Amino acid sequence: MHLLFPEVCILCQKPLGEGEEHICAGCFNDFNPFPSVLAGGAALKSTVRAHFGEKAVPAAAWCLYPYRSRGSLHEAMHAMKYGGLFPLGELFGKRLGELICQGGVPVGFDAIVPVPLHHLKRIERTYNQAEALARGMAGLIGLPVATRSLERCVYTGTQTGLGLEARRENMAGAFRPGRERCPARVLLVDDVLTTGATMVSAAKVLKAAGAVEVAFATVALTEKE
Ligand SMILES: [Zn+2]
Repeated sequence: MHLLFPEVCILCQKPLGEGEEHICAGCFNDFNPFPSVLAGGAALKSTVRAHFGEKAVPAAAWCLYPYRSRGSLHEAMHAMKYGGLFPLGELFGKRLGELICQGGVPVGFDAIVPVPLHHLKRIERTYNQAEALARGMAGLIGLPVATRSLERCVYTGTQTGLGLEARRENMAGAFRPGRERCPARVLLVDDVLTTGATMVSAAKVLKAAGAVEVAFATVALTEKE
């Protein structure tokens, strides 16, 4: 294990201190988290509102970091998604769980639902980063992870570089209810929210399948550049 994951920070290569895993405290600070629990949630909601209107805005939302397409957070997220650094998903999930447990917003959910990947994409990537996030959060919040309440039925290409209209079209009909019953109060989780097209589309399907409330939680929120 030491050869695969030597005990240095994956970003600055400095030796990790007591209790640090994969990313050192200094690098975590460099990610520039939102100043408060409410600020991150409000920023996420306002992005969804701007693109999809008031009706699409989730009742509750949490987000850790503003995201730019360069810099150390981008590097870490990229390593989590494509670089095979699976444990980073759980690590960010724990951070997100801590944020949610900090309070400021009432927490009352039945399950965490990670945004699913199409099964072919899952094979290609070998794991779903949203599921790893959900697992990291689950222990802290004390909620089950429901991976079979929602399915991705359309293989969509990468959304990166697409405008709002293209993202909307890409996502229309991308999800369907899964084999298991949908929990009533859902905490929907994904890594990055850009326009909200993916999560809004997933939430619509969950609601049609019986969810009465769908809150959003993401590690990062893309900043307008
Ligand atoms: Zn570091």
